[in-house]
Amino acid sequence: MQKIAFIGLGIMGYPMAGHLSRANHEVTVYNRTSEKAVAWKEEYQGAIANTPCKAAEAADIVCLCVGNDDDVRSVVYGKEGILAGLREGSLLVDHTTASPTLAQELAMVTDERKCGFLDAPVSGGQAGAENGALTIMVGGDETSFARSKQVLEIYAKSVRLMGPTGSGQLTKAVNQICIAGILQGLSEGLHFAEKAGLDIKAVVDVISKGAAQSWQMENRSETMAAGKFDYGFAVNWMRKDLGIALDTANSMQASLPLTALVDQFYMDVQRLGGGRWDTSSLIERLRMPDLIRDT
Ligand code: NAP
Repeated sequence: MQKIAFIGLGIMGYPMAGHLSRANHEVTVYNRTSEKAVAWKEEYQGAIANTPCKAAEAADIVCLCVGNDDDVRSVVYGKEGILAGLREGSLLVDHTTASPTLAQELAMVTDERKCGFLDAPVSGGQAGAENGALTIMVGGDETSFARSKQVLEIYAKSVRLMGPTGSGQLTKAVNQICIAGILQGLSEGLHFAEKAGLDIKAVVDVISKGAAQSWQMENRSETMAAGKFDYGFAVNWMRKDLGIALDTANSMQASLPLTALVDQFYMDVQRLGGGRWDTSSLIERLRMPDLIRDT
């Protein structure tokens, strides 16, 4: 059993830290809003630290799952930050979906402290975190990966080392690029079917047995048709992720025309007040033709 610190008890981090506790690891949690840490401690065995530094002090492994690059920096640096408390020989695992550049930076600063670092973004959403069935794509060295694997497997159905530092974040970017394109295609298909007066349920039933099938079609078409978006992976998060993908693509001359376009469509959804809606809400934008700027 290991001493593990978990920083960031959001939708994802709260249940992830809970799985570690249930697996009998000695868990210390930190959350900026302390009420969430108190609620976590009422539900699971573990300790609360008042700062990221205090949480990291005793830990063999420090896991982190906050919002974006700036949020990661704000819990890593400073006199109350993780780095100030990190013990020599310990390992920092960042589950935040952040930039590959930040991963390089964190690998460097942890190396200076003789600690390991893994960028380890996740996919699988809230349900994946709650059910311990996430997919984790990891960047870093083999030694750190081997050390973390048994711990990460507690809340994952799949954990894979993708290559050196940054490879986890690059793989997550590929995931988000693919999802953006698929969701726009699915939105247009369903919108077309609606306008044609087809029975959406029947259409999906037929085409989901063929080449048009996708996870999004299986899991989101019904709620998209019903206009229900108050759950799932938020548009604000998706824009953050597509921003990382587009910036990274720019730096290596990769061409992502559709991703750039869908990112703008998500901006329209934000204007509709849908920043917290599920990413499948792209269809809502098509239902409001005055918002469509490309026709
Ligand atoms: P969330 O529910 O909004 O939680 C964010 C967590 O980060 C909270 O604990 C928040 O603390 C903390 N935080 C944010 N900014 C901070 C700062 N400046 N200083 C200290 N703590 C800060 O987000 P989430 O849904 O768990 O997502 C976390 C990460 O996982 C994101 O990178 C997201 O893109 C990624 N992800 C999410 C999903 C999903 O379905 N939700 C799926 C895959 C990946 P407070 O409680 O004080 O606000």
